[in-house]
Amino acid sequence: MRILDPHLHMTSRTTDDYEALYAAGVRAVVEPAFWLGQPRTSVGSFVDYFDALIGWERFRAAQFGIRHHATIGLNPKEANDPRCREVLEVIPRYLTKEGVVAVGELGYDAMTPEEDEVFAAQLAMALDADLPALVHTPHRDKLAGTRRTLDVVREAGLTPDRVLVDHLNETTVGLVREAGAWAGFSIYPDTKMDEVRMVAILREYGLDRMIVNSAADWGRSDPLKTWRTGMTMLEAGFTEDDVDRVLWRNPVEFFGANLILEPVPGFVAGQVPAPAEFEGSSVLRGVRA
Ligand SMILES: [Zn+2]
Repeated sequence: MRILDPHLHMTSRTTDDYEALYAAGVRAVVEPAFWLGQPRTSVGSFVDYFDALIGWERFRAAQFGIRHHATIGLNPKEANDPRCREVLEVIPRYLTKEGVVAVGELGYDAMTPEEDEVFAAQLAMALDADLPALVHTPHRDKLAGTRRTLDVVREAGLTPDRVLVDHLNETTVGLVREAGAWAGFSIYPDTKMDEVRMVAILREYGLDRMIVNSAADWGRSDPLKTWRTGMTMLEAGFTEDDVDRVLWRNPVEFFGANLILEPVPGFVAGQVPAPAEFEGSSVLRGVRA
């Protein structure tokens, strides 16, 4: 099984996770810029975070044989904090950097006027930069939030095939498919979508424009949920080619030409990474005596 997890916050995860991901067939990930739990108080926090996503984290992933990409954006939750607004001025310069494959995650949290404004501004940036947009749907009032999300995307002038609407479930998938956008599903350990429900949705709606992710982060989550969904698909009678389509070819098609998918040169599975440093830091902690 080869897997591209298109929504995985590796900054919050450990080297054990990287090893388990590689062993399960994950060869590439996309890490969307998001909220850190702890509110940010200035634009400098965002700059350091964005730099880490396209610098240190990409280096760290490569040490474990995994290609790492990022989406850059102001998340919906912090769109409401005036201290964070200034970041909108620095986002466009990140959108042209290598390995930045979309604007995101954007969208609604509580559906405030501030969120409306920040969402529309960033969709315009996606158009300018000729990048797709990764759009988060709110965990509360999901149906109304998804409907409004699709309206805003339409008004912004982005074609639906350039938009991935994420965190969908049985109640919102139909709307997104009717709109012609890509449908994203985050598979969680104990809330929202699980892999069995996911397989039922794939049976009902087919595999076209369907994308599955683990959305693993600093909360209770499981970075192997993409692999578990692939296994559940096989048990349910889907073919290996079907699994490859959902877990690899679909996200590759959506994110497109900016992905870097060649194997990491010099990486050998199961071996301690060769000594390497990124701006003076290494993933190694001393050498075996
Ligand atoms: Zn996320």
